[in-house]
Amino acid sequence: MDTANVVIIGGGVVGCAIARAVSSRWDDVFLLEQTPKLGMGASSRNSGVVHSGLYYPPGSQKARHCVAGNQLMYEFCAAHNVPYRRTGKLVVATTPEEETKLAGLLERGRANGVEGLRIIHRPAIHAREPHIAGLAALEIPSAGVVSSEELVKAYARVAGGQGASILTHARVKRLAPRKDSIAVGIEIGDPRQPESLTEESIEARCVVNAAGLYSDEVAALLDSTRYRIYPVRGEYCEVVRAKAYLVNALVYPLPHPEGLTLGVHLMKTLWDTVLVGPTARYVAEKNDYERGRLPMEEFARLGKHLLPELQAADLIPAYSGLRAKLLPPGAAGPVDFVITRDPNHPRAIHLVGIDSPGLTAAPSIAQQVAAMVAEVLD
Ligand SMILES: Cc1cc2nc3c(=O)[nH]c(=O)nc-3n(C[C@H](O)[C@H](O)[C@H](O)COP(=O)(O)OP(=O)(O)OC[C@H]3O[C@@H](n4cnc5c(N)ncnc54)[C@H](O)[C@@H]3O)c2cc1C
Repeated sequence: MDTANVVIIGGGVVGCAIARAVSSRWDDVFLLEQTPKLGMGASSRNSGVVHSGLYYPPGSQKARHCVAGNQLMYEFCAAHNVPYRRTGKLVVATTPEEETKLAGLLERGRANGVEGLRIIHRPAIHAREPHIAGLAALEIPSAGVVSSEELVKAYARVAGGQGASILTHARVKRLAPRKDSIAVGIEIGDPRQPESLTEESIEARCVVNAAGLYSDEVAALLDSTRYRIYPVRGEYCEVVRAKAYLVNALVYPLPHPEGLTLGVHLMKTLWDTVLVGPTARYVAEKNDYERGRLPMEEFARLGKHLLPELQAADLIPAYSGLRAKLLPPGAAGPVDFVITRDPNHPRAIHLVGIDSPGLTAAPSIAQQVAAMVAEVLD
C-alpha cells in the first residue's frame, strides 16, 4: 500500500488548485480523478467568468474567496500563460425598480472590498455596449474571462512539477479511518471496461474531499451524511458568428432574488463568440446534462431583456453544466461554501457546495485548505 501526506479527491479546478498549493509545501501528494481527464465536470462547463465578489453577503466565504481569488487568478494566469481577458462587466437595470436595486448591489460590492465600482447611465452604457437596452448599469472593472480548461491544466502542471502524483481514471470508493491515517480505496481504470479495473489503496495522513457534485457522497464514505448536493443545470446557447458584434464584453441582468443564479447573461468569450446563459433548473441526476433542453425561443426571450435585437434564429445550442447546490428546490438562499474538517474524522477536509464563484475562488480556497492541511500534518 502507498502512503501519502495528502490525498485530494477530485481533479476539478478546486482540487487542482489545492494540489498546487499543498505540493509546494509537502511531498507525497496525490490527486485522484475518476474521469479520463482533469476538469471534465463543472470546471469546464461554466461561463469562465472571473467574478469580482460583488454579490455575496459580506463576511461570507464566497465574498472573501471571490475577492481574493479574483486577484490571485489574474496573477496566476499572467505567470503561467493561461488565456484571460480583464474585460470588465456591466450589471444592467432595465426598469426604475431594477435601478434602485443597483444601488444595493454597489453597497454590497464596496462592503466586500470590490474596487472601482460605479453606476453609469444610458450614454455610457451605449458607448460600451451599443446594442444593450438599459437605464443604468453597475460597472465592475475587475471582472473578466478566463479559459477554464487551460486554468485547470496549468494548476495541475504546476502541482505535477512540484512532485504531486496526478492520477486519472482513479475513482475513490472507500475511506476507512485508521488511528493516524485514512485508508483511501481506489478503483483504477475505465468503468466501461470492467475487466481492466484494478483496486488500489493509499494510506493518507490527510484527505481532501474536492469532489464537486459528488462531495456529499464522498463525505458519506466517512459516515458524514449531513450534506446533500442538488444538481442545478445551466444551459447555454451561442449567438451565430454574424451577430457576435451585438455584445462586446460581459452583460448581466440583476441577480436571481433567491440567490439561485446570477441570471442569464451575455458574454463575449475569449474566442470572440457570444454565449447566452446559463439557465437554472433542478435536475434529478448528476449526469443529466441534456434531457429536455430549452428551445432557442426561450433563450431569445430571456436574452431580449437586455438585447432586444436578439432573435431565436440567431441562436444555436451550446454546452450545459451542473451546479453543485446545497440549496434544496423551493428554498431561499444564499448558501455559503462549506469548507470544514470532518467533526468525527479530523484528518478529512470536506469542500461541499462549491458552486459559483468556485472557479474564481479556487486559488484562495486552496490557500485556506493548505492552512487546514498544516493543522492536520504539522
Ligand atoms: C453553469 C455554470 C456556470 C458557472 N459559471 C461560473 C463562472 O463564470 N465563474 C465562476 O467563478 N464560477 C462559475 N461556476 C462555478 C464553477 O464552475 C465551480 O464552482 C467549480 O468549477 C467547481 O470546481 P470543483 O473542482 O469543486 O468541481 P468539479 O469541476 O465538478 O470537479 C470535481 C471533480 O471530482 C471528481 N470526482 C467526484 N467524485 C469522485 C471520486 N469518488 N473519486 C475521484 N474523483 C471524483 C469529478 O469527476 C470531478 O472532476 C459555474 C458553474 C456552472 C455549473
